[in-house]
Amino acid sequence: MTANATPPVINFRRGGTAAEEAEKEANPSYGRREAKFFGLKNDGDQTVVRLITDHDDWIYVLQHSFMPTKPAPQKKEEGDYWPPSMMAVCRKDEVFAGHYTDDYLCDNKIKNTFGKVGNPQVRLWALAIEREVVRGDGTDALGGPAHKDLIVGVRDKIDEIDELDSEGKSTGVKLRYPRVLVINMPMKGFFSNLKALYGLHKTVCDRDYEITRDGSGKDTNYRMVQIDPVADVAPGTPHWGQYQTAIAERGINLDAMVAERATDAYYAKWFDPTKEVDKDGNVVPAGTGSAVGAVSLINLDAQGTPAAATPAADISPDLRSRIANLGVPAAPPAS
Ligand SMILES: [Zn+2]
Repeated sequence: MTANATPPVINFRRGGTAAEEAEKEANPSYGRREAKFFGLKNDGDQTVVRLITDHDDWIYVLQHSFMPTKPAPQKKEEGDYWPPSMMAVCRKDEVFAGHYTDDYLCDNKIKNTFGKVGNPQVRLWALAIEREVVRGDGTDALGGPAHKDLIVGVRDKIDEIDELDSEGKSTGVKLRYPRVLVINMPMKGFFSNLKALYGLHKTVCDRDYEITRDGSGKDTNYRMVQIDPVADVAPGTPHWGQYQTAIAERGINLDAMVAERATDAYYAKWFDPTKEVDKDGNVVPAGTGSAVGAVSLINLDAQGTPAAATPAADISPDLRSRIANLGVPAAPPAS
């Protein structure tokens, strides 16, 4: 034992803001691993998903869809894209319990890009993993001639993300994660179909679903075909645990994503021409900050289909309580 048993007096660094900066410095890829929004652009397009968020945990909020954005700021950053319209979570939604006293889009009856007042409508949110079917090609490795063209498996689609060093430069190492999708869609034509499947199996997470876009515009329906379980990736399995790990390591938090789209900063950045967001993220009167360009929020797929939703009266009201803590982005998604 050393005689010098008394620990030295340490003057620890303190402060949440400083800690956040330190974390970003220590882990510069923080925030660059956002989930992709689910979207099928054209009639007949299809994909395969494994729902991560089950029926009882689907978040639903009032949303404004296809709301025109204000003019792009002067100081756009290289490569930024300023979308002509964006969605927004309605600040009058009862889940916010009066936290917001104004709502630029509601208060001013702003019209959507279709020329109609963009009244908020119920939209749902869920996380999924994008998958793909593997069909036999006649070789023994894929089941032999008897399985030619038949589904022999389903595998995860993979996102390769550059690992970055302390200066933000690529190390050349690719980090591989399952591709996480954020699904933000209406009940009608999408989640209602999933709900019917939930009625069959009492979960939507135990098998893969092939989703096909059927139609366009407000008549769009998304056909869901269940794929027989061909690999054991159900909740509770090690593979499912990898999904949870990927979501946590990529910093994907569905509650925070929803809450973020109702904030002062979000409305100031995209919609309210009298305000802007300065480089420190503060909302300031227009012209007094140096508005920064578009950052990581852009994904036109996120806007859903316009004017097609019906109120989700068939979801139990107690689901509301699940988003009572919106705006608390610290915790990883519930497993
Ligand atoms: Zn609103």
